[in-house]
Amino acid sequence: SKPIVAIVGRPNVGKSTLFNYIGKNRLSIVEDMPGVTRDRIYMDAEWLGREFTMIDTGGIEFETNDKILTAMRNQAKLAIDEADVIMFIVDGKTGMTSADNEVAIILRNTRKPVLLVVNKVDNMKNEADIYEFYNLGLGDPIAISATNALNIGDMLDRLVENM
Ligand code: GDP
Ligand code: MG
Repeated sequence: SKPIVAIVGRPNVGKSTLFNYIGKNRLSIVEDMPGVTRDRIYMDAEWLGREFTMIDTGGIEFETNDKILTAMRNQAKLAIDEADVIMFIVDGKTGMTSADNEVAIILRNTRKPVLLVVNKVDNMKNEADIYEFYNLGLGDPIAISATNALNIGDMLDRLVENM
């Protein structure tokens, strides 16, 4: 079966935007039933002929009253259990937050590959925004912009190398 790639990160960092962008070529195949409105959580995608299944863990509702941090810990644990590769998305505009740190602590304890993706680097002249994220202890961060479609190819190259 196809490798599973879990997309993890705090709310509003751009997980769903990236998820939909990567999976857009397959959207027509897995279109939802008419009248059914819900966030898509699983989506098939491919890069350079390598097929994989993505999970947008942010689309999963754990408990209605879950605090953000609890929900993020649950996301990270789910990703560690279910995924072959984890994409940890952080926000280059906001910078590093304590919630990012909490998730990183969990992700550092897995042997599964973790790709640290700094989204919202909308102009690569701001690429220095990624350096603080080395402090998460998850290797080299990669700068992307999901809305401006910047560096997504390089990110996917790194993803399939780790599958
Ligand atoms: P999620 O909560 O992590 O799934 O985040 P969303 O995908 O819903 O995005 C949250 C907001 O960030 C939306 O308004 C997006 O348009 C915006 N966003 C996503 N990616 C980028 C990006 O690369 N650059 C900028 N400037 N905004 C982005
Ligand atoms: Mg989302």
